[in-house]
Amino acid sequence: MIATGGAMSFTRRLEGMGLEQQQAEVDVDALTERIESIKRRLGRGTTQLLTSQGVTLIHGSARFLSANEIEVTALNENGVSEVLHLEADAVLVATGSRPRIPEWCQPDGDRILVTRDCYPPKVFPESITVIGSGVTGVEFVHMFCSFGAKVNLVVSRQQVLPTKDPEVAAVLEDDFLKRGVTLLKGARATSIAREVNDAGLEEVVVRCDDGRVVRSSHAVLAIGSVPNTDGLGLDMAGVELDRAGNVVINRHCQSNVAHIYAAGDMSGKLPLSSVASMQGRKVAEHVMGLQKVAHRHLDYDKAASAIFTEPEIADVGLAEADAFAAGRKIRVTKVPVSSTPKALINNDWRGFVKIISDPATGVVLGGSIVGRHAAELISVVALAVTANLKVTDIVESLLVHPALAEALAEAAE
Ligand SMILES: Cc1cc2nc3c(=O)[nH]c(=O)nc-3n(C[C@H](O)[C@H](O)[C@H](O)COP(=O)(O)OP(=O)(O)OC[C@H]3O[C@@H](n4cnc5c(N)ncnc54)[C@H](O)[C@@H]3O)c2cc1C
Repeated sequence: MIATGGAMSFTRRLEGMGLEQQQAEVDVDALTERIESIKRRLGRGTTQLLTSQGVTLIHGSARFLSANEIEVTALNENGVSEVLHLEADAVLVATGSRPRIPEWCQPDGDRILVTRDCYPPKVFPESITVIGSGVTGVEFVHMFCSFGAKVNLVVSRQQVLPTKDPEVAAVLEDDFLKRGVTLLKGARATSIAREVNDAGLEEVVVRCDDGRVVRSSHAVLAIGSVPNTDGLGLDMAGVELDRAGNVVINRHCQSNVAHIYAAGDMSGKLPLSSVASMQGRKVAEHVMGLQKVAHRHLDYDKAASAIFTEPEIADVGLAEADAFAAGRKIRVTKVPVSSTPKALINNDWRGFVKIISDPATGVVLGGSIVGRHAAELISVVALAVTANLKVTDIVESLLVHPALAEALAEAAE
């Protein structure tokens, strides 16, 4: 949906490319089919990969009866429910997470939504209030804006993306304001209700703790997630959970019960697909006794992540604010994307590249990129951070010209 919305935004910028302005209209059915077909294709690919390796797939709901026994309620080929009992030398639990729903909000899947209600879309809202300005919240703001909705964003702090670099957040806020988003900063939603307005139209009314009230045709909750660890019988297995309900794991993703591993969102680490699959890989290595030859432990501090807004945002490694908070000496170099010829060619010069390095050794410690293709470009910095490369390693790479990556080389220089 973000890619389709991005294509729509792109058509609005065609004039600057020497083309006539085009007006794209969204076809909800075609978009829904596009989403479903991507999901089917990915699902088929994964299923084929697993079955070709001899994995037996059971479609069902599992829970532990004890540390060594798992009960699965599954549907057989005839669609009849059956209960299976499984035992294994090692068990990996990866049941993910679900949206956090506070007691003051009752999503109805119609106008009061959680993020999962939005894809595929049932309807494109005329106006929507997004509650929560973390990664998911801002991506939804961007998406709904691209499809032409009037968007309000409830931001509990004074900055969108409160955990990110303030300079990164500032570029995004600026873009949101230009696109007509209403930012309600320093406000916490305390109630969401459907009401009929004076004109007899149904609307969603969000009330905030500072007395502000915001009205829109729809609202979507994006205030984080909770792990799917309840109802799994983890207590029967003796598996320790933290206060938030995540399985407590060691660096091999092992729980306190040695043969039970956890990976993904319910392991309480970074809620990213990339992290979940790397954890799965590490579990496989450990179960098979391969960790002795595996060269690296998973370092969550070196995970690259991206936010698919416009401009795109990506970062990896040490953040400037965290370095200052820890009193760590760093060198920060920042170069605007507009300094590269490619930005002018693309008719899009928003954003910057920032590289954080160790002033004594030149080793790259982290970086942030705001701008087109940031999610792709950050891979260079991620590789440098993981492999302890120096800024000079980036400078001395013969990069393509014209390319946005030239901003990286300039920042490294
Ligand atoms: C809106 C949104 C956008 C996101 N965008 C990105 C992104 O751009 N990049 C990124 O890296 N990450 C992104 N994420 C995060 C990413 O989706 C998760 O981190 C990732 O899916 C976690 O993988 P997982 O295997 O832990 O859980 P999931 O992918 O949620 O899989 C868990 C599976 O376990 C099943 N399950 C649950 N309970 C049981 C049970 N009792 N028995 C059997 N099966 C069970 C569930 O049905 C599900 O199939 C996004 C998340 C959201 C909500």
